[in-house]
Amino acid sequence: MLIGELKRKYGEKGLLYQVHLDLTYRCNLKCVHCYINERRTNELSTGRILRLVDEMYELKTLHFTLSGGELFLRPDLFEIIEYARSRKFAVRIKTSGTLIEEGHCAKLRELGIMQAEISIYSMDEAVHDAVTKVPGSFRKAMSAIEALGNHGVRVRVNYTVTKPNAGNFRDVIDYFKERGIEVSTGTIVFPFLDGGLKPVMLNIPDSQRGEVNRYKTGSRENPPVPAIDPVGPICGAGRSSLYIAPDGAVYPCVAWHKPVGSIAESSLKSIWEKSFVLARIKTMTMSDILPLREKSGFDTFCPGLLNA
Ligand code: SF4
Repeated sequence: MLIGELKRKYGEKGLLYQVHLDLTYRCNLKCVHCYINERRTNELSTGRILRLVDEMYELKTLHFTLSGGELFLRPDLFEIIEYARSRKFAVRIKTSGTLIEEGHCAKLRELGIMQAEISIYSMDEAVHDAVTKVPGSFRKAMSAIEALGNHGVRVRVNYTVTKPNAGNFRDVIDYFKERGIEVSTGTIVFPFLDGGLKPVMLNIPDSQRGEVNRYKTGSRENPPVPAIDPVGPICGAGRSSLYIAPDGAVYPCVAWHKPVGSIAESSLKSIWEKSFVLARIKTMTMSDILPLREKSGFDTFCPGLLNA
């Protein structure tokens, strides 16, 4: 069964398909488009995270994404991955790659993670480092991609395209395509965690977004806009997936900052089954989104970006 189909079935059955946990908001980079504008210092303990893994197992969750901040700043990272793998979760990590060492790659391979995702912002070192605001970050990220590949870890490059780095998008796509490495292009930057819109100002115009997507897919046309069913469900946020912040606060998605509970105070199962906010989200349809889309002028159906 394809992943999309599986997710849909989970959503229909009211099951939690995937959880994205940011292990920390601490970071060694200072990316210009980063949505983390607060440095929440409270972080879940190792013990609470291992219990979260047990709770996800009980809820039949399949995918577990670990990110940050920079997750390699957590000394218990491998303990967490190891425990999640012992429970057979498909584990994905998202990192800048700047703290990855040779020994980490061997360990990640041994633990059988599904994928390591590394952020690259340009093939031009100066442009990449200007986005991260840390000199040397491009070289470290590229070394990590090479080392992970040499150890047989599946790598995906996450390329967020914004005004400062959109000029050479073809180079990034071509470089990794030629080497058989998947590139995911993100062409929408989300607001700050507190809803502030400063990062959104870095979004490229719709016309350029179309250009990037057409180049990536090798198509001359923009993909057709799918017909919208007003009574159809919204995206999977809160219906088949959840986002958890480092302090345990739970949200429907990393892009949708509507708090639905906290695993620092209760179990994931109780939030998933009893949160009133989540119950409302699970019944939302496109008819709740369409007026917001019209009002905002944004070309998106994302409830997070539309502040639903
Ligand atoms: S559409 Fe927006 S809220 Fe929904 S999953 Fe995607 S990013 Fe999250």
